[in-house]
Amino acid sequence: MAITFTLHGTDGTARAGTLQTPHGAVQTPAFMPVGTQATVKGLTPEMVRDAGAQIILGNTYHLTLRPGDELIRELGGLHRFMNWNGPILTDSGGFQVFSLATQVKITDHGASFKSHIDGSPLELTPERAVEIQQNLGSDIAMVLDECPPADSEPAKMRDAVERSIRWAERCKKHHSKIDQAQFAIVQGGLNLDLRAECARELVAMDFPGYALGGFSVGEAPLAMHAALPACAALLPEHKPRYLMGVGRPQDLLAGVAAGIDMFDCVMPTRNGRNALAFTADGPIRLRNAKHRRDSAPIQSGCSCYCCANYSRAYLHHLFAADEMLGPTLLSLHNVAFYLQLMQNARQAIIEGRFAAFHAACLARWNAAS
Ligand SMILES: [Zn+2]
Repeated sequence: MAITFTLHGTDGTARAGTLQTPHGAVQTPAFMPVGTQATVKGLTPEMVRDAGAQIILGNTYHLTLRPGDELIRELGGLHRFMNWNGPILTDSGGFQVFSLATQVKITDHGASFKSHIDGSPLELTPERAVEIQQNLGSDIAMVLDECPPADSEPAKMRDAVERSIRWAERCKKHHSKIDQAQFAIVQGGLNLDLRAECARELVAMDFPGYALGGFSVGEAPLAMHAALPACAALLPEHKPRYLMGVGRPQDLLAGVAAGIDMFDCVMPTRNGRNALAFTADGPIRLRNAKHRRDSAPIQSGCSCYCCANYSRAYLHHLFAADEMLGPTLLSLHNVAFYLQLMQNARQAIIEGRFAAFHAACLARWNAAS
């Protein structure tokens, strides 16, 4: 077994555990900063680690297009290439093919598409998605799935679920890297019957971990929140559960409450680059003139390097002057905020007060909006 998962405690359906991987342990619930192109944008690996990250995510689609998974393998694998010695999870590339590539054509064989970089024709099959991730050498790999938009016709949603199940089976069969765990992905949108059917088939294949895909793809956040408890309950209790590509702080807490263990999202870094900071009292915009003379840190009490050393006024200045340190410092704070939120949630679960913690967080965010 490449990974083991130990549950330390539950509070309602929320869970606190430890995911042990070949590159170290991850305390759950865990947030995984996104390192799309073998870098968490704007941050060195030391900054990411010091912010509290125990695992990061790499993107198969981007890395196979550039610089190429064979090259990364030749250079010692993704950990060495990007100088991150902790655990790495890689996605299968499916979601990016559907969201970034052009002229996407899906058959049972795989997805053919044109690169968003140079328009060159490419093909991603379940077998190829496995090979790329084995070349990258991630600790956790994902199966290739088809991820339709939330508003897809029921027939299209059913086709995607059935194809995702067949592709998961082919991925499992093709996977041979013993120090890498492969997770399956449950699709089905907001249709709980389809989700249940998909989960039943995938759980029977006995993967070491399970993800919920197809959320945050255009549906209302409250519809997702309502579906999460039933969807999480479809997954094995003793295996890690991962909610892919979600989301805002309140979405993560809804996931934790439902029994999800792992999350990833580009929001902390993407928003950080755009001068938006997450705080316990809701998001703030550092470009706003009201911060020009504000000597307070972004978040008092935040232990991140940005808040320990810099004022809102300084960050306002950096963004006004278009200095590159602005996006770096704000990405750092936002990543630290997400990681701290998950650490606090974990502590609350262990101490049996998660519901009160959850309500208090929402009350502060709602009061600010
Ligand atoms: Zn901070």
